[in-house]
Amino acid sequence: MYYICEICGYPYLNEPPYDKFGYGTYEICPCCGFEFGYDDYPDKTMGIVDWRNNWINNGFKWFSKHTSPPVNWDPKGQLDNLKK
Ligand SMILES: [Zn+2]
Repeated sequence: MYYICEICGYPYLNEPPYDKFGYGTYEICPCCGFEFGYDDYPDKTMGIVDWRNNWINNGFKWFSKHTSPPVNWDPKGQLDNLKK
């Protein structure tokens, strides 16, 4: 079971970004580097939108040094996961 990053659409998060109460789980997306419950403070909606725009404007950089991008990683394509 994997979860989708709500910022970049990366579909292989090990933990859900937010628990059932809407609190961040402090999962860090290896793709965009967003930490749920931290980088979305104090304004969740603005935090997510700003982070996503920065990530896109900086050229879809892979964040994690420990986790490698998936084979045939398609950062633009994975943004479509957010529309589902
Ligand atoms: Zn992400």
